[in-house]
Amino acid sequence: MSINLETITIADAHSALSRGDYTVRELVDAYLQEIDARNDELNIYLHLYTDIDEQVARAQAMYDNGTATALSGVPMAVKANLQVQGQVCNASSLMLEHYTAVYDATAIARLRNAGVVFLGSTNMDEFAMGSSTENSAFGVTKNPLDPTRVPGGSSGGSAAAVSARMALVALGTDTGGSIRQPASFNNIVGFKGSYGSVSRYGAAAMGSSLDQIGPLARTVADARVVWECMRGRDEYDMTSLSDDVWGQASTGAHYRIAVPDNFLDGLDSEVELRYTEAIDKLQQAGHTIERVSIPSLEWSLPVYYVVMPAEVSSNLARYDGIRYGYKAQEVNGLLEEYTKSRSEGFGSEVKRRIILGTYVLSAGYADEYYTRALALREKMKQELARVFDDYDAIITPTSPVPPFAIGEKTSDPMAMYLADIYTVGANIAGIPAISVPGGKTSADLPVGVQFISGHAKDETVLDIAEMFTNLE
Ligand code: GLN
Repeated sequence: MSINLETITIADAHSALSRGDYTVRELVDAYLQEIDARNDELNIYLHLYTDIDEQVARAQAMYDNGTATALSGVPMAVKANLQVQGQVCNASSLMLEHYTAVYDATAIARLRNAGVVFLGSTNMDEFAMGSSTENSAFGVTKNPLDPTRVPGGSSGGSAAAVSARMALVALGTDTGGSIRQPASFNNIVGFKGSYGSVSRYGAAAMGSSLDQIGPLARTVADARVVWECMRGRDEYDMTSLSDDVWGQASTGAHYRIAVPDNFLDGLDSEVELRYTEAIDKLQQAGHTIERVSIPSLEWSLPVYYVVMPAEVSSNLARYDGIRYGYKAQEVNGLLEEYTKSRSEGFGSEVKRRIILGTYVLSAGYADEYYTRALALREKMKQELARVFDDYDAIITPTSPVPPFAIGEKTSDPMAMYLADIYTVGANIAGIPAISVPGGKTSADLPVGVQFISGHAKDETVLDIAEMFTNLE
């Protein structure tokens, strides 16, 4: 039976594998062929894993002996900042170019138990810092929908893997939008659960109070089944949420959705058109749509670009050229060993953020920047929590602009940061958010629509996203 990679879902693959319409080997080979055909051009995978054959055999055995799960045999791409035991995990940084993971991230271990077949590690912005995958030490990934454009970032390789049919589903990480924005640039679904829904153990830390692992997929149902497998309390991550927080999904038929009324400056006119259409569709389907003023959303970017670099500067201190990673040659003394290793091993965006982070944390400035950002973060959390007393979700565009041309924003970091305006709020508040396809511009570029819900209302936001994607 031929496999249609354009339309296949995880549920389709599972039933076909259960019936024996094709084998895990045949399914995996179908994706490997696509990788073979286009990866050189698009630069999506940095490398394929060395144990695919063993993984295939294990997954097939699960079907043969009746222990298969919904995810057994599902070919998955993995962002290069997630630890997969025995495989290179370099976070697209020269600092970790040859680093081999010595253990599985908890999310990986749970998916592995379910029989997922991990194909390889995907390109990203170095240490997840960026919105275009142009900050990779190993070259940009091209957007499969238009190879002159970026795939978004930082999980650009993972998103592109799904849209280029080089994986059925993929994993990304999201600190300020890095799952949702590349999902929107690739016309697929990207979901970031509540902070702590998925253990961060084994994800290279960027901003520890913001980071979440999550799925990129073609459908909301696919994203949900992957997320449900990964989520849950983990003794290796003290911030992981306990298993009893997941209430049943909300009401079902009728939702109350808030449209922030003060949040559309700088929005591309065609993105705005698609966004307005999305709102109209929801209204026509009988859902309540109300304009709501959420003033604190205006602080999203300033809060994020203070808190995030502060945490980056501290998390990346471990890459010192001594314990692991890149080591500069011919150095004169310990201090030079540190400085040279870090100067040569990190790219310019990473260094920019480390410098910014140490500045906002430094004596004399911390009160003015870091402490104030934390106070504003708290206010934002409270204001958003009040919105979710009355509404099931907030709807926004995912990105203010459609996929931009490669090179267009690289010389202007501020312009790149501004493109994160709609996504960073959910990370600041630790709440779930999802990007779903919301149509195309006249130039045939994809536009994403984002739904955000209250803390631990992950099932609700998934339900709303699923309902939306089913609207005509
Ligand atoms: N684009 C944002 C940034 O550059 C988000 C990154 C992320 O979520 N990892 O920080």
